[in-house]
Amino acid sequence: MTKRKWWSQSVDETLTILKSSKSGLSCEDAANRKTNNSEMITNDQTMNPVRMFLNQFTDTMILVLLGATVVSGLVGAMIDAITIMIIVLINAVLGFVQEYKAEKSLEEIKKLAASYAEVIRSGERIQILAQELVDGDIVLVEAGTKVPADIRLIQSFSLEADESALTGESVPVEKDANLCCEVNTPLAEQANMVFMGTAINRGRGSGVVVATGMQTIMGEIAQMMIEIDRSMTPLQIKLDQLGKILIIICMVVCAAVAGMGIYRGEPVLTMFLAGISLAVAAIPEGLPAIVTVVLAVGIQRMAKRNAIVRKLPAVETLGCTTVICSDKTGTLTCNQMKVQRLASVDSILRMEQSEQNDRQQFIRKNDVVDPMKLPGIHRIIDISLHCNNASIKKQNRKIEFFGDPTEAALLLLASNTSLEKQGHLIKEIPFDSERKRMSVVIERNGEQYLFVKGALEVIIGTCSYVLKNERNDLMRTQERNYFMKLQEEWAAEALRILGFAFRKLEKGKWEHLTDKDLEKDLILTGMCGMIDPPRPGVKQSVKNCIDAGIFPIMITGDHPSTAAAIAKQIGISKEGGVITGLQIDQLNDKELYKRAVNDRVFARVSPQHKNRIVTVLKNKGHVVAMTGDGVNDAPAIKASDIGVAMGITGTQVTKEAASMILTDDDFSTIVEAVYEGRAIYDNIRKFIRYLLGCNIGEVLVMFVSSLFAMPLPLLPIQILWVNLVTDGLPAMALGLEPPEPGIMTRKPRPKNESIFARKMGVYIFSRGMYIAFISLAAFVIGMACVRMSGMSGLELPRTMAFTTLVMAQLFYVFECRSEKYSPFELGFFKNRFLIVAVTCSVIMQLCVLYLPFMQGAFKTVPLNGWQWGVILLLTGIRLLWKFILYTYQSLFVSGNNYVKIKP
Ligand code: ATP
Repeated sequence: MTKRKWWSQSVDETLTILKSSKSGLSCEDAANRKTNNSEMITNDQTMNPVRMFLNQFTDTMILVLLGATVVSGLVGAMIDAITIMIIVLINAVLGFVQEYKAEKSLEEIKKLAASYAEVIRSGERIQILAQELVDGDIVLVEAGTKVPADIRLIQSFSLEADESALTGESVPVEKDANLCCEVNTPLAEQANMVFMGTAINRGRGSGVVVATGMQTIMGEIAQMMIEIDRSMTPLQIKLDQLGKILIIICMVVCAAVAGMGIYRGEPVLTMFLAGISLAVAAIPEGLPAIVTVVLAVGIQRMAKRNAIVRKLPAVETLGCTTVICSDKTGTLTCNQMKVQRLASVDSILRMEQSEQNDRQQFIRKNDVVDPMKLPGIHRIIDISLHCNNASIKKQNRKIEFFGDPTEAALLLLASNTSLEKQGHLIKEIPFDSERKRMSVVIERNGEQYLFVKGALEVIIGTCSYVLKNERNDLMRTQERNYFMKLQEEWAAEALRILGFAFRKLEKGKWEHLTDKDLEKDLILTGMCGMIDPPRPGVKQSVKNCIDAGIFPIMITGDHPSTAAAIAKQIGISKEGGVITGLQIDQLNDKELYKRAVNDRVFARVSPQHKNRIVTVLKNKGHVVAMTGDGVNDAPAIKASDIGVAMGITGTQVTKEAASMILTDDDFSTIVEAVYEGRAIYDNIRKFIRYLLGCNIGEVLVMFVSSLFAMPLPLLPIQILWVNLVTDGLPAMALGLEPPEPGIMTRKPRPKNESIFARKMGVYIFSRGMYIAFISLAAFVIGMACVRMSGMSGLELPRTMAFTTLVMAQLFYVFECRSEKYSPFELGFFKNRFLIVAVTCSVIMQLCVLYLPFMQGAFKTVPLNGWQWGVILLLTGIRLLWKFILYTYQSLFVSGNNYVKIKP
């Protein structure tokens, strides 16, 4: 298909060709066109289950084992060979299931992180998945939007795009819908187009979709979708390195075991198989894979709690977080704003709910007044209506809004009056948190006006006059002080304040002015104050955060007194100290750090300040989580350890920079994510402790018996079986252990802490020795029994050692559920997966002991009552002791740390 040169067509031509209009496609039309656009940008990383299954057999040790099995089959040990094959196959299936589950979870998460587009369909502004866009759709873009398709602009206001993803040029490109470019204009100069995958830096606009998916310029060049970053987490890297060291140690020990056996005169093939089986069983090659499963399952659990993790390493880092820097508006507060107060130079009003209808009334002192009769207030509402990009829908008592909540609140205010939009928009200088104001030029009845709204002190800075009884008086210090004093009073009540100003423009005389010169000599009309209450539950979350050794910091563009009032209400600051953006510029790093730790509230900051705060905190060794929504927040988000983007109000650009997205924009969700992060790390430690403990036990049984020239206590098949029944399901189930109590009352884990820290290494080794010791003890007891009964053969001692090794590991798994609490304190049956897994393993072991065909394959004999008694005593004594202690304490001792656990 030859592509059209959309940039050389006028807006009308483009709309005609695409059979669309400025009010968008109808929903039916869009649905019909969809079929023509099923071809999305393909993602060649899709999983291939067959390849994944075959990958399970690529491990070198498995291949050597299979080779050896074939050899043993050839020399006659057919049953051995088949059994080993079956075990290896079951192991491969287990490995496949684990990996498939991990991949599936990651795919699901990827879907959650999909991007959206705002479109006009059937005349209404709606949000759809970016992949549902069709040619002819009218799309709205604004600062922070990641452009979802190739678009011919229809309308643009101060629009600038960052096209570096496409052209490599990092300087933002100005866009203008009214231009019609030459046919042969190069891509970088097509100023009336925006392209998929690029980002809007400033301004806003709308346009018609001319290409989607693979048809876009970006589609031709590369694949574009939010990718989940699968890079290895620091822990996975460490485990990978540890795995390599363990492989070498295991190989040496296994070779030694095999060598010593052969030297003693054991059959060469048996010893060869024993050595390799031991290596297969002892090398924790699956450890990184299980870590991925646990991380992925944890990520899904977080997604259910509204936190979407985009980068795997963030899960680990979450557990180390020491500071959470949060925006105020929308994250700590509800972002459901409502105007409560209005003031012009001659009237102060408050808003009250009417008893007759769902409208609000304007009250001056105690009287209801008509705002249309008060020139200052009338003008504030006029500016509110026009200097506004939000839209609201009132249905019964429910209000739905699109766009900035501050602007929606102003529309809601205006909906209580008879005033409506009048005139048309000529120019717009968008709001951004740097300028802290927004301006529009409106033409109405042949006259042009500049309307401005923004932070009060910023607006006052642009004004020379003040509106007083329809007159424009020169602004004196007196009026300035009146408004500033009112701002302090309202802000102390946690109100969010906005100033309003305007001026009449002379046609033909302002068009060439810079934005700064245009916004000069304005007439101040007044101010409004709106409430934005703290989110329910945020106070408790702040407390949880502090209890967990994490200190919260509020960073807001809002007024210092408003920030201080909210911070006090939710418990972030006690003293009420606030550091302003201006002060940040004057403080050196050391002073800034001190103030950050003491005051914890930053106000009237710009996005660059956020960057500096992150850097200062990180330099002091903190692990910083930082929230952001605007396009300018992306650098600070990237600089932090955990960048957190807002799912509702956040821009696509910040979402892509972030490692975590909050789908509900709620601060409490970050605290919950930290909780989950800590729980996930705990679980990883739990199964590492379990797996390594078990493996050390297995190796030591064989090694020690060789050292003491004992007969082989376990046959190769038995070793592989132990590996199958204990390493697979129980280890996985341990990874799914519910979070233990008290996770959020301990200090954050140091970032560089070793996985074996807090005595875990000693613990693993001692438990491995214990398991080996009792297995050998069972073997020796078995030999003594055989000798006492005047018989011979090693079947019984081996069966006893084999069963002891299995049972010891199955009891040990319960101990690994917590480093602090006994399994009885935690609730013995609380981890149902573990109960099921252990039950399965026990049944499997019983099959090996009592099913005749399995007895033949595994060379076992059925155990009698007293033999079981010995085994259960050896393996269960530790757990039994804990149970006795627990029962005693819970029955007879009060005030102890047993049984008192509340989740
Ligand atoms: P936070 O940084 O916590 O999200 P914020 O929304 O108050 O809070 P900014 O968006 O930087 O921070 O806003 C700074 C100030 O700009 C606000 O206090 C308000 O006075 C003004 N302001 C906010 N939104 C608008 C808007 N849409 N138009 C004009 N002025 C605005």
